Amino acid sequence: MKYCKKCGMPNTRPGIKFNEGGICSACQSFEHRKEIDWKQRYKELEKLCEKYRGMNGTSYDCAIAVSGGKDSHYQVYLMKEVMKMNPILFSVEDNFKMTEAGKHNIKNISEEFGCNIISLKPDIKTQKKLMRYTFEKYGKPTWFIDRLIYTFPMQMALKFNTPLLVYGENVSYEYGGLDYKETYSARNQINNGVASDIDINELLQIEGITEQALDMTKAPSKEELNKLDPMYVSYFLPWNSYKNYQFAKSRGFHDLTHEWNRTHHIENFDQIDTRTYLLHSWLKYPKFGHASATDYAARFVRYGLLKRDEAIQLIKEHDSKLDPKCIQDFIEFAGYSESEFWKIIDNFYNRELFEKNSYGEWVLKNPIWNEK
Ligand SMILES: [Zn+2]
Repeated sequence: MKYCKKCGMPNTRPGIKFNEGGICSACQSFEHRKEIDWKQRYKELEKLCEKYRGMNGTSYDCAIAVSGGKDSHYQVYLMKEVMKMNPILFSVEDNFKMTEAGKHNIKNISEEFGCNIISLKPDIKTQKKLMRYTFEKYGKPTWFIDRLIYTFPMQMALKFNTPLLVYGENVSYEYGGLDYKETYSARNQINNGVASDIDINELLQIEGITEQALDMTKAPSKEELNKLDPMYVSYFLPWNSYKNYQFAKSRGFHDLTHEWNRTHHIENFDQIDTRTYLLHSWLKYPKFGHASATDYAARFVRYGLLKRDEAIQLIKEHDSKLDPKCIQDFIEFAGYSESEFWKIIDNFYNRELFEKNSYGEWVLKNPIWNEK
């Protein structure tokens, strides 16, 4: 593994690229912000909103895909209060046990900004079957939910005739990944690798999974997609997760303070709605040798909130340590024993990146704290 000289992100992150100086594409995108004429970009956003504002009379003129988190708070504020649009909000609930903060935050968006939210609560029977399959085979336990997070808002935007569909940041561009391109259009988001790589036909082979049950996971056809104008806010305004968090707090957003101190995270404000969902992001650790702690440490270094060596300490302390509460909630929902769970996890440790130490623990062969 090679690590970015600036932020510490390893080159095992899917799709990330390093330049000759050993700097990752996420850091290069961040540097590039200085050269952008943000006033001009803001005008472009105003123009885009103008095009759609009031298009359906007193009905909605844009849609926002929300989770209820800090970024959702910011997006709703931007579209409704700053751009004076009339947004309808679409969210996908994952059916997992919610944290107190999670319950509060989705309610807070509705109460603070006065918006209707249409939530999809997916069919649990199908969810559990798919969860076990995609976890065991691909190490992607929340594939069904992640897929719906992409497809549901698009399907709904078509139904409500709200072409302008608002997303937060272009993850691949901001943090490094596939589909590394700077554009306002979120049309290609479905192909960014999170939920694009399992063939529906394969899932239909699973006993009890029908085409009807998977209908909502279908991406819109090319023709339908052409009717939509999905956009990333991060193209128009310099996106900053920490700033969004501070803003959201000022509007009533709750983090996990006094509720839960997550062992494998270094912050308490991102992806805090349910414990079960976090297994998905942690599974990057055995597969690629880094997970949420590295993601945020690198981001904080870019934002100037941490020094690289401070980030390395945090990564060392947290990244490998999947929180026991995540495991507990996950195995309860999916129906595994703990030993079955660990056996499956064991399969996903990338043998090129990891080896077992004399205690039987998986350890990185080239961790960032031993880099030369
Ligand atoms: Zn970097």
